[in-house]
Amino acid sequence: MAAAPITSAQLGQDVINRLVNSPTNPSNCTCGWYIYYSNVCGHPYQDVPHRCGRTTVPTGKSGFCKSPAPRHIVQAPQVAAQCRLC
Ligand SMILES: [Zn+2]
Ligand SMILES: [Zn+2]
Repeated sequence: MAAAPITSAQLGQDVINRLVNSPTNPSNCTCGWYIYYSNVCGHPYQDVPHRCGRTTVPTGKSGFCKSPAPRHIVQAPQVAAQCRLC
């Protein structure tokens, strides 16, 4: 749990390392929101969506396999910046 804090620019890459298979999803896939916290103020910093790629919405983009998608708290790393509300 002693992971070094990351910057908001790293969220998109870091989320790949935090994926969890959720039993509430079809096929136990990793679709969902991954919620990162600020290590400065302790509030939620950003909800990062991850879509596993099995589901495509009518516009052609990938979508969540289940709605609402499951939400996962990322315990570490946290983001080295204050949340937008502070
Ligand atoms: Zn999925
Ligand atoms: Zn805050």
